[in-house]
Amino acid sequence: MAEPILSLRGVARDFDAFRAVDNVSLDIKTGSITGLIGPNGAGKTTLFNLLTGMLPPDAGQVALNGADVTRVAPDKLFALGMGRTFQIPRPFARMSVLENVMLAPMAQIGEHLLGPFFRSAPMRAQETAIRERALGVLDFVTLAGLADQAAAQLSGGQKKLLELARVLMGDPDLILLDEPAAGVNPSLTKVLIEKIEALNARGKTFLIIEHDMDFVMQHCDPIIAMAEGRVVFEGTAQEAQNNPILLDAYLGAQTDV
Ligand code: ADP
Ligand code: MG
Repeated sequence: MAEPILSLRGVARDFDAFRAVDNVSLDIKTGSITGLIGPNGAGKTTLFNLLTGMLPPDAGQVALNGADVTRVAPDKLFALGMGRTFQIPRPFARMSVLENVMLAPMAQIGEHLLGPFFRSAPMRAQETAIRERALGVLDFVTLAGLADQAAAQLSGGQKKLLELARVLMGDPDLILLDEPAAGVNPSLTKVLIEKIEALNARGKTFLIIEHDMDFVMQHCDPIIAMAEGRVVFEGTAQEAQNNPILLDAYLGAQTDV
């Protein structure tokens, strides 16, 4: 069997006396679209923060392609091929859609201001390359027609596609999406799913937190469920649908979004 793209061993994180993530061990299969479900407060987003270097774990190890990346910073992980989107997209509202996408690699390498980065001639040459790449990525996520609009003008669903575009600037092997379909209308969700499946067909692995059970059941395999900081289930969609513990742990809180 191929090595898992991501391995967690005994990962834990407390917030004061509250254990948000409790001894999580998981292998994410290379090439999969893995779904991560669980009621609000289960620790899913915290787990993403631990995986992506945004929060240090109190215990445990994270390995990417077999190499230990525990406590590695987000920009380094982005460079190593791990990209993530946020549950609540936070684009630079007054910048254009194109500028937001162009900024993704720079934000990830620690450059936060457009000005200094573009000042020198080599940087201007790089800007042209980044612009071309950004336009290609925007075309892929069906936002090319909105490239010059302010990001603030995008709908909730379009902002999620913009987040995906920003992640794709890094050409990641592993893409973590935090509730990509939440608040997104069905036609844009369909576009999002098509893009996820197209990227997956090109070999990209996805780990997706999602409450939309149709989305998860139809497009994710395997499915992992968390409750109260722990993994309570791992299996196929069919196994998930027939699992009484999972129904209790998850469906009871499904409307609490
Ligand atoms: P989920 O994404 O599954 O809804 P979260 O990971 O966001 O859950 O939250 C898990 C628990 O950890 C919640 O009880 C939440 O209030 C708590 N929590 C998350 N982040 C913090 C933080 N930075 N400080 C304190 N408590 C937090
Ligand atoms: Mg969350």
